[in-house]
Amino acid sequence: MSVSITDTKSSELYARALQRLPGGVNSPVRAMRSIGRDPIFIDRADGAEIVDVDGNRYVDYVCSWGPLIHGHAHPEIIEAVVTAAHRGTTFGAPTVGEVEIAEEIARRMPSVEMVRMTSSGTEASMSAIRLARAATGRTKLLKFAGAYHGHVDGLLAEAGSGLATAGIPASPGVPESATHETVIVPWNDGEAIARAFAEHEFAAVIAEPYPANMGLVLPVEGLLELLRNKADENGALLIFDEVITGFRVSAGGAQEREGVTPDLTVMGKVVGGGLPAAAYGGRRVLMERIAPAGDVYQAGTLSGNPLAVAAGLTTLKLLDDPAYLRLGATTETLAAGLRDAAAAAGVPVSVNSVPGLLTVFFSEVTPRDYATAQACDHEAYAAWCRALLARGVYPPASQYEAWFPSLAHTSEHLDRTLDAAAAAFTEVG
Ligand SMILES: *Cc1c(COP(=O)(O)O)cnc(C)c1O
Repeated sequence: MSVSITDTKSSELYARALQRLPGGVNSPVRAMRSIGRDPIFIDRADGAEIVDVDGNRYVDYVCSWGPLIHGHAHPEIIEAVVTAAHRGTTFGAPTVGEVEIAEEIARRMPSVEMVRMTSSGTEASMSAIRLARAATGRTKLLKFAGAYHGHVDGLLAEAGSGLATAGIPASPGVPESATHETVIVPWNDGEAIARAFAEHEFAAVIAEPYPANMGLVLPVEGLLELLRNKADENGALLIFDEVITGFRVSAGGAQEREGVTPDLTVMGKVVGGGLPAAAYGGRRVLMERIAPAGDVYQAGTLSGNPLAVAAGLTTLKLLDDPAYLRLGATTETLAAGLRDAAAAAGVPVSVNSVPGLLTVFFSEVTPRDYATAQACDHEAYAAWCRALLARGVYPPASQYEAWFPSLAHTSEHLDRTLDAAAAAFTEVG
């Protein structure tokens, strides 16, 4: 049975948007092109549910791509933001909230002895790299194919042919000079990693400890330890990009779960609680290179913005041990239910999950790197997503993105989701 949603108002807005916004959106994935449909304009949301401008209601598994670990419009977070706004939205001078959030981050992530706030994850990873280059006096970076660290020129690089080649620009407008210093290797390929370290002196290796921008592709046993050891031998810094995993997969992020300590950590999404904030931090001796303590320049008009800090700090304070247990249980129920529903419909999928994150790969084999994620049946994923939307479930509109279950997702939401998923699998199967 095919069901559908009314989208008159979304269509009208999209037509208007196309005249004034490139592709009708302010960030590409929102256009839903990779699942072959037009974007859905959102009117409002609360908890785990969003409502579009046509009045359709969905169980939301995007949750703004990660920040909303407590769901939409959490009353305490909204109150913190409103209270902060009444005191003034920005001062360009330090405030108590910045000290408190830095202390809270350090408490959760002991490797982050000092922190600098920025307004986006892109800025934070760009700045962490600048610091790594300054601290080592080197320029080269090692990154992984399929990893995303924001739209930083030098990291918008694709692997050339062969392993451990210099990166080639992944977008027009990125000069070769920017990606020339970036070496790209496949994720989970210990040999390629060892070879790259043998051939180059790196300023840093940057990795998402649980890559979640090629879908969620977990590290094989020992991989993060290998990165730590190879970086040390090489004299390179290890940067963990925990923009997605930080404060989500556990109180102290993937570094806590895996017991591997990076030199620098990039944070974003959850740390801003749904407002524009991100951060980078690490060992004191490194961070004290940042101006004005040191000579590495980095600044921002709205960095540490009082509203964003209020949202981030409240978000973190609500994340206690029971919250992480609950988020883990929600994710597991969802992952297991999706596996069962696919199996019942005879659709080959592989579901990767860690607490707070999962990806349904349309593939019999579990993707272990970008190449195997690319080899999934993206058309089937797209059709399944369209079928879910028609049944009131809002999934990430790309095989390369993770689902973001939140603490606002109840067992009733999960039941509704799994019913819709079963019907959608049957439809595409
Ligand atoms: C979202 C993301 C970024 C970029 O953050 P923005 O705030 O969108 O600039 C960086 N790294 C990872 C792992 C991300 O998922």
